[in-house]
Amino acid sequence: MQLTRRAALAAGALTLAGCGTDARVSGPTPSPSPSPSLAPSASPLPAEVVHGPRDRAQVALTFHGQGEDQLVRTTLAVLAQSEAAVTVLAVGSWLAEHPALARAILDGGHELGNHTYSHADISSLSPAAQYAEITRCADVLRRLTGSAGRWFRPSQTPRATAAVQQQARRAGYATCLAYDVDSLDYTDPGPAAVVQATLDGVHNGSIVSLHFGHPGTVAALPELIATLRQRGLKPVTATTLLT
Ligand SMILES: [Zn+2]
Repeated sequence: MQLTRRAALAAGALTLAGCGTDARVSGPTPSPSPSPSLAPSASPLPAEVVHGPRDRAQVALTFHGQGEDQLVRTTLAVLAQSEAAVTVLAVGSWLAEHPALARAILDGGHELGNHTYSHADISSLSPAAQYAEITRCADVLRRLTGSAGRWFRPSQTPRATAAVQQQARRAGYATCLAYDVDSLDYTDPGPAAVVQATLDGVHNGSIVSLHFGHPGTVAALPELIATLRQRGLKPVTATTLLT
């Protein structure tokens, strides 16, 4: 029961703060590098990617990976029904408490990446603490899946500062994964609003920020994915979009 309570507390904290919320409201302003626009054959990738090639009719749905076990499993079932592959940036402490979900995510055809160990406000940490947050999550990913994953997404900020990019690279993540479309799903605005916010902002090559652990997000996914397809946009993993 202790684990359940901790998970519930984590979920509650998540409701108050999405990946980028704190930075916009009260946190330090990140110093973003210029938004790179990738050519389809760009190689190697820059230190941070905000979106993929604009001439590619694909969209990457990317999820903050943390949430109540059953809700995450329901999300995976909905994604399977919609035949959509997504990218899950896992919070390391959450994944360590739900180890079976690592395999469930990969078995669903999705990919796993690193979203720090404790989802702290990483921009405000010392370089050493930033590095520890990244490597501790990487260790969990490696232990559970055999791979640390390709992508790192910083916590509590939409963009990685130059210092965070440096620590991510040092930890083996050459590219930080930002996004150009914020679904605002962590504010629990209801499924229709999640669909609308995403469709209003999405283009060829977009990377969309979504969150596990929110029922409204799960409810929005079937219509969101179906409408993307109607517009000719195929949901793919970040790796498919960017490489
Ligand atoms: Zn997050």
